[in-house]
Amino acid sequence: MNADILREKFLGFFEARKHKIVESDSLVPKDDPTVLFTPAGMNQFKKEFMGFDSGFRRAATAQRCLRTDDLDKVGKTSAHHTFFEMLGNFSFGDYFKEEAIAWAWEFLTQELKIGREKLWVSVYQEDDEAYNIWKDKIGIPEKKIVRLGDKDNFWPAEAKTKGPNGPCGPCSEIFYDFGPGVGCGEKICDPSCSCGRFVEIWNLVFTQFNRKEDGSLEPLPNKNIDTGMGLERLAAVMQGKQNNFETELFQPIIKEIKLGCQDINGDGAGIASDTSRPRNDGNNGMFYAIADHLRAVVFSIYDGITPSNEGRGYIVRKIIRKSALHLRSLGINKPFLNTLVGQLVQIMHEPYPDLKDRQEDIAQVILMKKKTLLIF
Ligand SMILES: [Zn+2]
Repeated sequence: MNADILREKFLGFFEARKHKIVESDSLVPKDDPTVLFTPAGMNQFKKEFMGFDSGFRRAATAQRCLRTDDLDKVGKTSAHHTFFEMLGNFSFGDYFKEEAIAWAWEFLTQELKIGREKLWVSVYQEDDEAYNIWKDKIGIPEKKIVRLGDKDNFWPAEAKTKGPNGPCGPCSEIFYDFGPGVGCGEKICDPSCSCGRFVEIWNLVFTQFNRKEDGSLEPLPNKNIDTGMGLERLAAVMQGKQNNFETELFQPIIKEIKLGCQDINGDGAGIASDTSRPRNDGNNGMFYAIADHLRAVVFSIYDGITPSNEGRGYIVRKIIRKSALHLRSLGINKPFLNTLVGQLVQIMHEPYPDLKDRQEDIAQVILMKKKTLLIF
């Protein structure tokens, strides 16, 4: 099942359950001055979470997000991205844990037909309410419900002890099990193990407290739901891939980069002069990173950010520069990132039909920046 279908199924599922389908906010947050780029689905709803009435109390989105904290990890792991899409459903003082859990389960097991036996869940250590819903209402065996602490299952992480003050609450995560053949192979391995056997696919946050100055948690009059599921990860799971970059969201771009290397190096593997290095495998991380960076750059420019020397523009400039360095290591010294824009437009034209009209302009902005970057 490809990402276009997953995105559509998700929004359709929640629309049928009376959620307003809200457009993705721009990567430049409209209503949240606390962040440089939109990092998650909930940011555009901060005022609704605080009780502001926008005329709807249920919403669902496919939000485009940008996170640059882990820029250097991108390409080296199976799931770090700068740009990604987050599927989310939200309740502003309307439904709460029971519906959020039941719908998440229904969507995964009935709509997407993921086997129940492949799914595990975690709940916050003190959240008996969520634990009992999973155990009694959904019927998950107790050994597959893991209780985790402040760091993993409270949002914001460790807010109870460290703050910030304001709305917060426990969360419950749903994990996909790739099976005992993947990861550490230890007898005792569960979602708290970071070996890669279990991947988190959906985080359900139950925003039910207001953390006060003295550190106490006061129940909120309006309890909220804020969920997030990474589309790239979901697509990978649905396609039986352990690495997000192996899905159709990235592969056509990666193929194009490999072709570019072939034209230049004549062997399709990149770095023709360095025969001692493992070929495709050794370079995959760089291909992954370039494909990731292309998406980040194209959607930043799409949202009106121009590469520059300050603020958001500086970050975009940095990402372009990183791609140029990777391309150079692969033997490509000419402007090239701009030639990949068309391929990305092909992949993303369903959710973003207007991307096609912007293709030339976006490629031109990248080309101009690449030229100046190649000077030093
Ligand atoms: Zn493990």
